[in-house]
Amino acid sequence: MQSTENKSILDESILKFIISVDNVAHVQPENNLEHALLILIKSGYTAIPVLDTNYKLHGIISKAQILDSVLGLEHIEPELLETMKVAEIMATDVARVKKTDRFEKALSRSINHPFVCVEDEDGSFFGIITRSKLLAYVNGYLHEQRKNNNY
Ligand code: AMP
Repeated sequence: MQSTENKSILDESILKFIISVDNVAHVQPENNLEHALLILIKSGYTAIPVLDTNYKLHGIISKAQILDSVLGLEHIEPELLETMKVAEIMATDVARVKKTDRFEKALSRSINHPFVCVEDEDGSFFGIITRSKLLAYVNGYLHEQRKNNNY
């Protein structure tokens, strides 16, 4: 019984967890680092997706990567913020799923990433799913199980 119910949560659709593209802060590969840093600071996020004008996903850019790239050996080199592009330093090993994928895949992809990117059938960026939302759902599910089974 327990294993059947655990299987059903793993097989659930991920659609209800998706923050849609319209609500996702992002930058473009050709933006300079100054612009990306401003977006990151103003949005309050640690890292955000990098999308081109056709909404194809190219990578992820983080505050840490930007700061690391302007650190010289002895000084911070803020002038690099204007000259360097997002595409030069973004991470390209992005955790991604298709919007038709199941909960199981999104959960496993999120283990090493605070958020997972979601693409639609033709590979266009569709949104993100945060690890915190997935874990909150698992937490609620497990507590419900305990209540129902009195353990
Ligand atoms: P959270 O679990 O809500 O703290 O989100 C985890 C991470 O997902 C954040 O640090 C961001 O990197 C990313 N994230 C969450 N929501 C958004 C959003 N609306 N736009 C861009 N990135 C986001």
